[in-house]
Amino acid sequence: MNKDLKKFEEQNNIITDETLYFFDEKEQDKILDARPWRSDPRYFKKCKISLLALLKMLSHARMAGSNEVMGLPLGKIQGDTFLIMDVFALPVEATETRVSAGAECNEFMIQTIELLEKAGRKENVRGWYHSHPGYGPYLSGTDVMTQRLQQVGDPMVAIVIDPIRTMVSGKIQIGAFRTYPQDYNAPDDDHREFQSIPLEKIEDYGIHYKSYYQLEVSFFKNSLDNQLIEILWNKYWINTVTSSSLIVNNHYFVTGLNDLSSKISNQKSKSKKSDYLLTLDELLGKNSAQEKEPLKYALEKNQAVLSESIKNLLFSYKI
Ligand SMILES: [Zn+2]
Repeated sequence: MNKDLKKFEEQNNIITDETLYFFDEKEQDKILDARPWRSDPRYFKKCKISLLALLKMLSHARMAGSNEVMGLPLGKIQGDTFLIMDVFALPVEATETRVSAGAECNEFMIQTIELLEKAGRKENVRGWYHSHPGYGPYLSGTDVMTQRLQQVGDPMVAIVIDPIRTMVSGKIQIGAFRTYPQDYNAPDDDHREFQSIPLEKIEDYGIHYKSYYQLEVSFFKNSLDNQLIEILWNKYWINTVTSSSLIVNNHYFVTGLNDLSSKISNQKSKSKKSDYLLTLDELLGKNSAQEKEPLKYALEKNQAVLSESIKNLLFSYKI
């Protein structure tokens, strides 16, 4: 097995589980009839994604650079868990305020679903995925609206993937979300992971933060998929190795640092002390998220410089 793929699987905790692939039609019908999610807005707790689906989403999102992509996950329900077995990409250009899924796209979707049925695929479309290149997985105001519409045809999940942060950190940056009903009073108890949100998106993030919750995401694979996974991996990996993270993600680093400097300026203007009397802690704020953010950019930039140097040594070293 490919060494880098093995490392990627270990780093992201991908387990082999053959049992998840068995499709029990009767059991699916039973749970779809019972609809336990109707009476409990936090019914779904987990989202398990196959490595095949993950690599397809990552490659799709990477190809679009800083544009957003969109597609549909295929899967089933097991207890309080979404099992995502596969995905298919939609020919659609999406932005945070507008999704241009025209008639052409709907036609493509219907044709693909028909083809999948003909091919004997039993899994159904279980939501939608889209990418947030460089600004992290969360739901924007538009996404919350889209997901609320999706949930009318429940059970549906919203998956958001960040290909740029995945590339710079080496760790998959993905989130799976469910929205609450509009009149629901969201509890304060959910502990979300630290996220750095660009300044221009913070307001939108803050307003809609309590309209949805995050599911626990994990990954699995099947030994039968190995060959396909290696092909997809090679495509993704070669794309990653042959491109320079410093150049490809230049926009991400520059806007990230600008953003950070604006956040620090905002913090400074809130303080009554003059600049030179402020300690570093005061400049960055006591808030733990703000303390982590400069560190995050420093580590990512370091990693990019380091991998650039290693590639230079490996590929251009002359004896
Ligand atoms: Zn979005």
